[in-house]
Amino acid sequence: MKSKINLGQTKIFWMLFSSLSIFSLLFLGKFVSSAQAVDYSSLERVEVPAIYKWNLALFYPNNVAFQTDKALVEKKIINFKKNSGKLTNNTAIKKALDEYYGLAILVSRLSGYASKVYDSDTRNSEAIGLRKMTEKITNDFEGASSFLKPELLKLSDAKLKALAANKSFNKFDVFLNGLIREKKHVLSEKEESILAKTGNLQNAPYNIYNTFLTGELPYQKAVLADGTEVVVSPYNYVKYRQSSNRSDRKLVFDNYFGAISNYKNTLAQTLSSQVEANIFRSQAKYFNTAIEEALYSTNLSVDYYKNLVARVNKELPLLWRYLALKKKVLGLDELRYNDLYAPINSSFSGVYPYSEGLDLVLEAVKPLGAEYEKQAKLTLTPGNGRIDIYPNLGKATGAYSAGDKADPVPYILMNYDDSYLSISTLIHESGHSVHSYLANQNQSYLKTGYSTLIAETASTFNENLLLEYMLAHETDQEKRKELLGDSLETMRITLFRQAMFAEFELAIYTAAEEGTPLTAEYLNDTYLKLVKKYYGEAEGVVKVDDAYAIEWAQVPHFYFDYYVFNYVGGYLNGLELSAKALKDSAARDKYLSMLKAGGSAYPLDLLKKAGLDATSATAYDDAFKVIEQRVSELEKIVGK
Ligand SMILES: [Zn+2]
Repeated sequence: MKSKINLGQTKIFWMLFSSLSIFSLLFLGKFVSSAQAVDYSSLERVEVPAIYKWNLALFYPNNVAFQTDKALVEKKIINFKKNSGKLTNNTAIKKALDEYYGLAILVSRLSGYASKVYDSDTRNSEAIGLRKMTEKITNDFEGASSFLKPELLKLSDAKLKALAANKSFNKFDVFLNGLIREKKHVLSEKEESILAKTGNLQNAPYNIYNTFLTGELPYQKAVLADGTEVVVSPYNYVKYRQSSNRSDRKLVFDNYFGAISNYKNTLAQTLSSQVEANIFRSQAKYFNTAIEEALYSTNLSVDYYKNLVARVNKELPLLWRYLALKKKVLGLDELRYNDLYAPINSSFSGVYPYSEGLDLVLEAVKPLGAEYEKQAKLTLTPGNGRIDIYPNLGKATGAYSAGDKADPVPYILMNYDDSYLSISTLIHESGHSVHSYLANQNQSYLKTGYSTLIAETASTFNENLLLEYMLAHETDQEKRKELLGDSLETMRITLFRQAMFAEFELAIYTAAEEGTPLTAEYLNDTYLKLVKKYYGEAEGVVKVDDAYAIEWAQVPHFYFDYYVFNYVGGYLNGLELSAKALKDSAARDKYLSMLKAGGSAYPLDLLKKAGLDATSATAYDDAFKVIEQRVSELEKIVGK
């Protein structure tokens, strides 16, 4: 299983400016088989026609140009160090920040180029070398500029405030104001250097976990109903839990969770160690709790997080109504936890060659106005060199949008397979890509990087536009059933399941912070209670087998503290804002102004710009109304 989270792809200046520019799709675990009209997946990259590939010559027309930039960067990095110890007056500070800014763009461009060459064919040894080379440059740059932040942090609050307000420092105001907030959590130079040296130790629990779960944990064989023998690996578990044969679904659930359960104490140790490492770091940096540290860079409060989870809890009956329909369609007298991934129909079917998918996307984004549509068209049209459409041998899997302002244009990587899910992915990535374009057009470099929460708002917004467009043009009841079923399944996984994960994280961190040891029994017990609550066991919605309590052990996201709430918030923001924008052009314009604001403000302030007070009790009323309408229509089609 490949989990599509964007950690590890964070922009290189994370340390200094806390911004992200690469956004990939949450892996929903859906397998799609479709009769693809054009299939390059078993061909070498050179055999794929150029119009379907991104044009990286927009970065550098040839190798000489790349080498010229590389040499320039190396020279500038050495020169940059000379600013160390000199940040005592405005002129010197301005010079250092300007040089840093220019270098950041150049370094980002080099690595943006290298990563795309690499993703085009990850087996290519030249590409591997190129990526290693730019990683080294990035590290050198980080090393050479490591003095910058500590020296600036030595300036008084009044001085930093004055600089931020100074017109000639306009490009740096968000960064300088951020330093004032950060001061409380910065240690002495010696302490910071000791803490930095614990970096590898802090990554160890996840590395051990990942190696074990994906490489060494012995998965077991099972014989499916048709006599096929399979090893129930994470990949096959995800594949066969969607079987239309009920006994196969139960077989892979029992087998997979049984295999993992044999190592429950080891897996509890790795997760517990990760939690302890994050708590240690947050305490060392004078935060009260790990969640405070995790939310700090986005200026979100713990109350915001708790309210978001509480709101989803309040709406659980909507999930239960959908699950009751699922049970009915599957013809079961009891819906069990291992039935959840069973297809309630063939998922929205049909073969959509890329040109048709593109037409649908462009029609769907029309409500966002001409400028938006024009940019989406420019990005997605084959031959413009901005999108890499089809899979080829060695190409990176999944899909992402890379929209760093340092890049010549925003790029999209796809593995388009002519399915409806592919179109949904395409419009999701176009949401990120046009967002980046608008932010890049309207903001200076350091204010373009938006947070994951805002990123997932823009992409979910577009996914919803596609669904609304499809529903508006589909009269066939069977097709409407498939569309609604698909969208509600996405809701289950992106909204309710991730909220359950977010609640679990808060529970185990809180327990650990209060001194409760995170044993396998404790984790199983806490997780099982949540699964039973979310899936309405007491209400007779889903029967949850106690043996599946171990599910927490196979979720890698729990190793990245407090990340999954972004999916919950992004989903609700996107649905709420798109519902409003489709009704009212003033709401649409406010939304566009949020996209243009990029990362120039914190998430809640950006959402306010878009007309959404995410902290209000009524924040997501429209979003849940939309979900309610979809459930109601499905109830009408299927019959309660
Ligand atoms: Zn995304």
